[in-house]
Amino acid sequence: MGTWGRYSTGRSWLRSALAATPVVLAPMALLILFITLYQFDGSLPVLYLALKHQGLWSVIDAYRPRFDLHTTLAYSCWIVFQAVLFQWLPGPRSIGQRTPAGHVLDYRTNGLSAWVITHLALAALCWKGGLDPAFVPRNWSGLVFAMNMYGFLASAVAFIKGHLMPTHSEDTKFSELNPRVGNFDLKLFTNGRIGMMAWTVIDLSNVAYQYQEFGRASPSILLVTILHTIYVLDFFNNEEWYLRTIDIAHEHYGFYLAWGCFAFLPVMYTLQTQYLGRHPTSPSGAYLLVAFTTGLVGYALFRSVNDQKARVRRLNGDCLVWGRPARYIRTTYMTSDGWQHESLLLASGWWGWSRHANYLGDLLLSFSMCALVGTTNVVMWAYALFMTILLMHRCIRDEVRGRSKYGTAWDDYCRRVPWRLVPGLW
Ligand code: NDP
Repeated sequence: MGTWGRYSTGRSWLRSALAATPVVLAPMALLILFITLYQFDGSLPVLYLALKHQGLWSVIDAYRPRFDLHTTLAYSCWIVFQAVLFQWLPGPRSIGQRTPAGHVLDYRTNGLSAWVITHLALAALCWKGGLDPAFVPRNWSGLVFAMNMYGFLASAVAFIKGHLMPTHSEDTKFSELNPRVGNFDLKLFTNGRIGMMAWTVIDLSNVAYQYQEFGRASPSILLVTILHTIYVLDFFNNEEWYLRTIDIAHEHYGFYLAWGCFAFLPVMYTLQTQYLGRHPTSPSGAYLLVAFTTGLVGYALFRSVNDQKARVRRLNGDCLVWGRPARYIRTTYMTSDGWQHESLLLASGWWGWSRHANYLGDLLLSFSMCALVGTTNVVMWAYALFMTILLMHRCIRDEVRGRSKYGTAWDDYCRRVPWRLVPGLW
């Protein structure tokens, strides 16, 4: 039993049932988003009229994603290709965060070269005529079906493996923290190579679709794609840093990560280019400039905050932050193997300003991505709304975990840095 980390027992049935509702609600929300965008031009009022006249199940049955053999085979090849790159492409070895049971795992972080090879390979295929550059939007229904199918399958495999043959049973609660098959890490693979890798491929294919259908690629779709690409490249370029984020260090691998990265991320995170591919908009140049610049500022904040923490921890506090010696709280925590370890909580620079300025940067970036579409259509703001809920909820979850890991040192940190996101606001 771990001394901190995910709960395994002690929760009421009611809380567990409530926590499980997104297992049904998230796929439903995704289905509604898919149908609204593809059948009703992204218009919720039109969807509402259809629901009113035809009823929910008839609408779902008529417009849901459909199985298509060729698309499913193509998607299966994509997964195998990504698995081969993940496992065999040379790359540096990186060390992950210590788990609640005291394990320190190693990873091959070859994400950036895998991203380059993937995109070059797809570009070459398109160049040689073996693949339509607009393959993704033209086969979106079959792809969404396949992504969901594999997402549910991966969730079932995660559940069964976690119960029958966990990789590190001491770190397994209801689900596994770091499921592996041999040295193949399912969590990093699913997050990075299935989820993040698909993001730019879907975007670029929608740009190609707009070009094929309308004879041009509009500034909006290009600028959104640039912001998305910066974010995805940052992820792969900093894959070693990513091992120390909550997703890899703390989240268990179950439905949310498995289905979420196979199906939810590719659909939700690319809503803007999916829409723009079919409905080019033309906001003014000044509007686009402001939205794009805000996005770049958000990205700069996101990277600067994350780098500050990573550097101070790497150098054990022996460095400058904003030109002054770093201020931090030195603390300890226990792992369930009985060992005590040292850590530090940075309390200066961005981390003295608020406890999650990195989330603020991410939110600025998310809202800018949506703003670039240049419409008040609610569906086009769904990504930013989702990120706001996700990150605010994370702030609260992180506090609970921090307190259980560091005890009074965490309370001391919260007294020194009282604001979660924006000083004076929250
Ligand atoms: P953080 O990078 O803020 O990591 C939080 C962890 O860092 C805590 O659990 C704790 O872990 C440690 N920590 C907390 N406070 C301090 C401190 N003061 N000093 C040193 N260490 C501290 O959060 P996330 O992992 O959630 O996010 C990483 C980035 O990824 C963020 O920029 C976020 O915006 C982004 N993100 C993007 C998502 C997307 O879908 N696009 C989803 C989620 C995140 P411990 O002490 O155990 O090491």
